[in-house]
Amino acid sequence: LADRLQNTIQRIRGKGKVTEDDVNEMMREVRLALLEADVNFKVVKDFIKRVKERAVGQEVMKSLTPGQQVIKVVQEELTELMGGSQSKIAVSNRPPTVVMMVGLQGAGKTTTTGKLSNLLRKKYNRKPLLVAADIYRPAAIKQLETLGKQLNIPVFSLGDQVSPVEIAKQAVEKAKEDHHDYVLIDTAGRLHIDETLMDELKQIKELAKPDEIFLVVDAMTGQDAVNVAESFNEQLGLTGTILTKLDGDTRGGAALSIKAVTNIPIKFVGMGEKLDQLEDFHPERMASRILGMGDVLTLIEKAQANVDQEKAKELEEKMRTMSFTFDDFLEQLAQVRKMGPLDDLIGMLPGANKIKGLKDLKVDEKQIKHVEAIIQSMTKKEKVNPEIINASRKKRIAKGSGRTVQEVNRLLKQFEDMKKMFKQMSNMNVKGKKKGFKF
Ligand code: GDP
Ligand code: MG
Repeated sequence: LADRLQNTIQRIRGKGKVTEDDVNEMMREVRLALLEADVNFKVVKDFIKRVKERAVGQEVMKSLTPGQQVIKVVQEELTELMGGSQSKIAVSNRPPTVVMMVGLQGAGKTTTTGKLSNLLRKKYNRKPLLVAADIYRPAAIKQLETLGKQLNIPVFSLGDQVSPVEIAKQAVEKAKEDHHDYVLIDTAGRLHIDETLMDELKQIKELAKPDEIFLVVDAMTGQDAVNVAESFNEQLGLTGTILTKLDGDTRGGAALSIKAVTNIPIKFVGMGEKLDQLEDFHPERMASRILGMGDVLTLIEKAQANVDQEKAKELEEKMRTMSFTFDDFLEQLAQVRKMGPLDDLIGMLPGANKIKGLKDLKVDEKQIKHVEAIIQSMTKKEKVNPEIINASRKKRIAKGSGRTVQEVNRLLKQFEDMKKMFKQMSNMNVKGKKKGFKF
């Protein structure tokens, strides 16, 4: 949210005593920030009222750390606003589980259908079938088939001459035959909600008896998203929403209001165009992310999924014993890159948006490549003992990697600094252990 909110939070956090004026000031900032994030006006009003009641109540004023306590209340209520706890995808006890994807054109239905099948297979060990039921948009079938090919997940299609209702019906039969446990139906969208679209979706619903009807919403569409959700819900009875394009410039406020206004849970969020960029939606993580405390849990999860545990342990041991070399450094760079674009990761770090300029800083993947090139131009001995790298060696390395001597110098300096930091960290650990602290 707004930087101003961040500042207010920062100021109040440390306070030993919080007056009603402080609370009012903070609520003013929270209110502005939410409105700025395009959260529905009425939703904001209710939200502020609830937080205020709790914040000036006993629970906060009497606590030892009222500043912290106010923030906790805001965070809890924001989490509540977004659905409280994580809402999981349905599992039918008579497989296959049928999922219908609906939404306006361009919202991300087809892409998300592909992503969801990938997630179901990877994370939940399922065997999904994709169904191409958008026969109107040129190349929509082809688009889903291409996704299926990329993911190696089968796509059911009957071309664009058979009605979507018939396609859906036959697809479910086919899924039973082939023992698929999920059927994901990609349906057509329109630029606006219209009767023909709704009638067709209703018929598909009638025949395919979906366990889930997911509305795919573009998080960037602002207040309109709430209206879209309301009318789809009225006509079809939605079971969940999937927010796409949360990786963009949007604050996602309007989409968050969908939950508050329609009471339909958010189940997944799209964080990019790539097929692995669909994530479970965690209200409490989103709340702390909005409040700028960093989405540490997601970050840790990402790291755990991508970093080889053995290697991580080995690395830690090396850091501790100071036998960390440039080869390890290379290894570490590779691990970090596996976690995805660095920009994403930085955004998740607690306090990252407090550091001036960091938000606008695009981490340059090219620069990492340069660093790698420099390290690869070192000899084995140099990688282990960088102290021996004198002027003539520097020149040779620079030439070998196609970088400048200054760049080589900079890297050597960074490496030294890093080692120093490790040393401090491990000293801290030793001291902590002696005193019985846990780090
Ligand atoms: P449909 O008309 O609803 O089926 O929408 P598509 O699946 O064809 O998607 C429209 C565009 O949105 C495509 O260019 C997608 O790559 C893009 N898109 C979908 N989800 C995301 C997302 O989470 N992040 C970003 N940045 N782009 C997305
Ligand atoms: Mg589509």
